Amino acid sequence: MKKVIVVGGGASGLAAAIAAAENGASVCVLERLQRVGKKLLLTGNGKCNLSNITCSGDRYHGSVRYAHILRDFDAERYFRDMGVLLRTDAEGRQYPMSMTATSVLDALRIKAETLNVRVFCEVRVTGISRMGTRWCVHAEESEFHADAVIFAAGGSAAPNLGTDGNLLPVLEHLGHRIIRPRPAICAVESDAERLRPLKGIRVRAEVSAVRGGNILKTERGEVQFNENALSGICIMNLGRLASLYGRRLTLRLNLLPEIPPETLPEVLDMLLAQRGLLPASELLTGLLPKRIGERIVKEAFGHLTTPAAELIPDPDAVGRLCTALTEWEFPVLGTAGFDKAQVTAGGIAGESVSDTLESKVTPGIYFCGELLDLDGDCGGYNLAWAWASGICAGHAAAT
Ligand SMILES: Cc1cc2nc3c(=O)[nH]c(=O)nc-3n(C[C@H](O)[C@H](O)[C@H](O)COP(=O)(O)OP(=O)(O)OC[C@H]3O[C@@H](n4cnc5c(N)ncnc54)[C@H](O)[C@@H]3O)c2cc1C
Repeated sequence: MKKVIVVGGGASGLAAAIAAAENGASVCVLERLQRVGKKLLLTGNGKCNLSNITCSGDRYHGSVRYAHILRDFDAERYFRDMGVLLRTDAEGRQYPMSMTATSVLDALRIKAETLNVRVFCEVRVTGISRMGTRWCVHAEESEFHADAVIFAAGGSAAPNLGTDGNLLPVLEHLGHRIIRPRPAICAVESDAERLRPLKGIRVRAEVSAVRGGNILKTERGEVQFNENALSGICIMNLGRLASLYGRRLTLRLNLLPEIPPETLPEVLDMLLAQRGLLPASELLTGLLPKRIGERIVKEAFGHLTTPAAELIPDPDAVGRLCTALTEWEFPVLGTAGFDKAQVTAGGIAGESVSDTLESKVTPGIYFCGELLDLDGDCGGYNLAWAWASGICAGHAAAT
């Protein structure tokens, strides 16, 4: 019977362990924390957004080939086989019907136990070496031997949950190429002086990541204004670009994405007719949250107290107002660090792994999950990858 060691008892590690055991291997999981699946319990605000019905290509980023692996994965069937039924929301996000992450972790644990997967917690793996045709996995106080080893140690995001990229130097030393880890799915920092007065406000907007005048990606959704950062799902989906390009990137907000640009002057004319004699600060009241409306007027006109009708005759004023409403720009100053990021971009490069996620440099070693250079958008895509890649690596390692 082939012996397989899985390093890391998170989402992908548990999926890999189960798949390897189902394919006849004797499996043990080594987890540095006191329990497996700690991060899983916090996913989706404790509800565990475990996959998405549209796991399509444009939702994933990185150098690892993934389409063939995700194509074979069916979250409904996978979890149904463990007694977990799913529900899908309007955006295609899949959750356990119980809406609790605990039920997902419990089901994985029960399945692993049934298959005699042995779990060793508080075992931090520090290295790996060859022993003839087998592998010796070194932990802080012990050693484990196996025919195949699956590294499922996660990325560098959320180090308080055991994932800090600690094994990347070990794997690099073995000859794997590492793409520098960067925070992804994270808030984006910008000018605190402009943001602070808007703290706590949420607006629906279309947000574009712009570099050198070119739009790299556009997302729609709720934007949250924080002390020194913009947040919300649509912003967090642009976080990986902000980590990559840093200050060369600008976030451009269209605050009225539902209004076609050509009809915007008409809307402004209507507001002017209604409120033109009031202080300009009132012009956008009702259209946008009050503090946002005031800020836009201030940026377009430079005045808040003068009646808008007195400012509009300036030939450029309406244009400036339209631009401020639809192309409101925030320079990127950085991103929330790994402490606050949900996911890591970067990791083991695609060129170092085969289509079954086996190392091309050291056959017999496999990888899965966030440790690999593949990250998905917010919406269940990262857990979908964790399960699918875990199953792929577990199956290949056992056979
Ligand atoms: C707060 C939060 C919410 C999230 N919500 C969602 C969501 O709703 N939907 C979604 O799709 N994604 C979500 N994610 C992302 C998702 O959780 C991860 O992409 C996924 O868990 C990655 O699985 P993994 O197995 O690669 O790594 P992890 O689940 O992070 O597991 C890695 C495990 O390896 C262990 N480990 C690390 N180093 C060692 C070592 N040297 N020795 C032994 N063990 C080690 C760690 O302790 C950890 O338990 C969220 C992330 C966070 C932080």
